[in-house]
Amino acid sequence: MLEVRGLRAGVAGREILRGVDLTLHSGEVHAVMGPNGSGKSTLAHVIMGRPGYEVLGGSVTLDGADLLAMTPWQRAHAGLFLALQYPTEVPGVSLQDLLESAVRATGQPTAGVAEAIRAEVERLALDPRLLDRPVNVDLSGGEKKKNETLQLGVLRPAFALLDELDSGLDIDALRACARRVEAATEESGLGVLAITHYPRLLHELRADHVHVLAKGAIVRSGGPDLARELDENGYVGLLGPDLAGESETAAVGAGPARPTIDDPFGGPGTSPGGGDPFADPLAGL
Ligand code: ADP
Ligand code: MG
Repeated sequence: MLEVRGLRAGVAGREILRGVDLTLHSGEVHAVMGPNGSGKSTLAHVIMGRPGYEVLGGSVTLDGADLLAMTPWQRAHAGLFLALQYPTEVPGVSLQDLLESAVRATGQPTAGVAEAIRAEVERLALDPRLLDRPVNVDLSGGEKKKNETLQLGVLRPAFALLDELDSGLDIDALRACARRVEAATEESGLGVLAITHYPRLLHELRADHVHVLAKGAIVRSGGPDLARELDENGYVGLLGPDLAGESETAAVGAGPARPTIDDPFGGPGTSPGGGDPFADPLAGL
């Protein structure tokens, strides 16, 4: 069980998460939706342990173990996985080396990794030639997301945080990734926190619970109908203009950028404690 209790966190002296409560059991899918800048990526980053955020209160536990006291790699060993909104390019490292290192670090044998990769390539209909490239280097946005899903399939975590897995995916790729994650919930009891803007992801990856995050707090929770309601009425229709608005600084630095290996959690305007002063403000518009 992954349990988030009263989680408050901020960056650069500003509180972004203002008391988030979530309880995920194995095999469950929880979707988190919410306006831009509401704190969705911050939530995923703080649970995984991206440096730079300040935890101001609350707790995050996995089967009772205190995740907030652990480094990101210790959290990964404990069974947590984060599919990044903007996957990182890692020049010079092959996917197989990456996954074998990850498996070796947990003390498991690496003998089956190559075969597991081949099985995932098949399931995701990923072009096998992409495996010859360094991790994510020169892959399209959609291919990178498939690559994240492949890693999830090989590493078989207990809980996965998916930060907009659907962004950049075409319809077929979206279906393949969503189906793969849904299958993991059934095959290995994976618990999923899926951050998304689009109910389409939830056609194949069936959410048991849908939560709406606005201004750093969960303001509505419900079943799959809530995602449909949002699709029809938008955030303003559902929450009213006050809660649906972006946070004051939300627009600063927004727009896709290439994360670097210096900060593998990468992402535009999300660099805790600063952001890239040279970022192109028009990138991704
Ligand atoms: P979402 O993923 O819901 O779009 P984020 O979690 O990325 O939102 O961001 C939540 C809020 O925190 C936004 O207003 C964003 O501008 C702000 N924020 C994120 N990182 C930083 C930072 N390093 N410095 C200042 N504000 C930040
Ligand atoms: Mg985000």
